[in-house]
Amino acid sequence: MDRQQEFVLRTVEERDIRFIRLWFTDVLGILKSVAIAPAELESAFSEGIGFDGSSIEGLTRVYEADMIARPDPTTFQILPWRGERQGTARMFCDILTPDNEPSLADSRNVLKRALAKASDQGFTFYTHPEVEFYLFESPTDLTQPLVPVDQGGYFDHVPRGTTHDFRRSAIGMLESMGISVEFSHHEAGPGQNEIDLRYADALTTADNIMTFRTVVKEVALEQGVFASFMPKPLVDQPGSGMHTHLSLFEGDRNAFHGAGNEYELSKVARSFIAGLLKHAPEITAVTNQYVNSYKRLWGGAEAPSYVCWGHNNRSALVRVPMYKPGKGQSSRVEYRALDSAANPYLAFAVLLAAGLKGIEEGYELPEGAEDDVWELTDSERRALGIEPLPQSLDQAISIMERSELVAETLGEHVFDFVLRNKRREWDEYRGQVTQFELQKFLPIL
Ligand code: GLN
Ligand code: MG
Ligand code: MG
Ligand code: MG
Repeated sequence: MDRQQEFVLRTVEERDIRFIRLWFTDVLGILKSVAIAPAELESAFSEGIGFDGSSIEGLTRVYEADMIARPDPTTFQILPWRGERQGTARMFCDILTPDNEPSLADSRNVLKRALAKASDQGFTFYTHPEVEFYLFESPTDLTQPLVPVDQGGYFDHVPRGTTHDFRRSAIGMLESMGISVEFSHHEAGPGQNEIDLRYADALTTADNIMTFRTVVKEVALEQGVFASFMPKPLVDQPGSGMHTHLSLFEGDRNAFHGAGNEYELSKVARSFIAGLLKHAPEITAVTNQYVNSYKRLWGGAEAPSYVCWGHNNRSALVRVPMYKPGKGQSSRVEYRALDSAANPYLAFAVLLAAGLKGIEEGYELPEGAEDDVWELTDSERRALGIEPLPQSLDQAISIMERSELVAETLGEHVFDFVLRNKRREWDEYRGQVTQFELQKFLPIL
């Protein structure tokens, strides 16, 4: 037993913890949880806990259904919403096969593999997500319009608003679980909020995003409202993005900082951005994985629809934030396509792979876009070499299907699963007769 494991056992005893939830994530990014009693902890660390993988999206094929979840003791945290006494704690797990090999179907493992590749080249990958979500009155009937909890807008201070209390409670819980929050505010849509997590290494951030979604859902239930990370829940309002700031470090040094260069960007940063741009269409089925994701990407309201980069240009897919003199360590790029419903492990893995490819191959960064790219005409954009992102899940899957980069990064098992699952989602969606069609066409046809 190592020191971290001993620490967990001791804390469980001292803090009178009665249940330990073992958390892991399915291939679509949905959190799974199984609770064990404290007496089971030692064997959970040494052997793991067996479960039926065939019942979990994407984990196994039916003929190899047995899987093992082994908790990572460094992720131990007490769940604040379960009360002080006789409490509940959680740990994230790695998924293993019955032969104790890391499972090829485990998203956390996909990200670990991508990070190991970066580390072979001397890089650590840091991420900092800005997570947007909506708060609605609890819906009882999903055929009725959703009712946001307020009519506030960007940065609004809504007197006696539900959302202050909401953000305060959620942030308190996150901080008590060791997750630092940098900013939080009302977003542009009614009932829409944003909470930005402090940057951390990508594996920690991905775990933190999974915790974040759970905390937000729990606090919403406690306050009698409903929280949703759906990318575009309201037709006429902004969607919920998860802009993510990315940087590479070499040891203690930010490898994106290039003193004296344009926007203080190093060559590494320029090639990394070039990699993101070149591979953006291929990775979009991962960063924007639902039919609904494309309603956000193509619904205006500051969501990026075109592949380009810019300095402080909020219409660009990749934005280089304003450089503050003396802040070389905070050099970073913001990828704005990602939405709040992505599987963060897979999304960070493909973003990293795209950027690293740019560095390995020495891609040249195209000219930055200074204009608002939404205002340009199609032919102006074409003249500038600005391509659109995929416009539907269908297009995104067709592009991803041919991507060596994504196949290699996700591994064959996850790659095939995502393609099959998303193809099925598209086919199901394509067959629907919608309210839109009935209202528009029934009266005249
Ligand atoms: N909600 C917008 C999006 O979907 C972002 C708005 C903003 O943070 N500037 O990406
Ligand atoms: Mg923001
Ligand atoms: Mg925002
Ligand atoms: Mg942003």
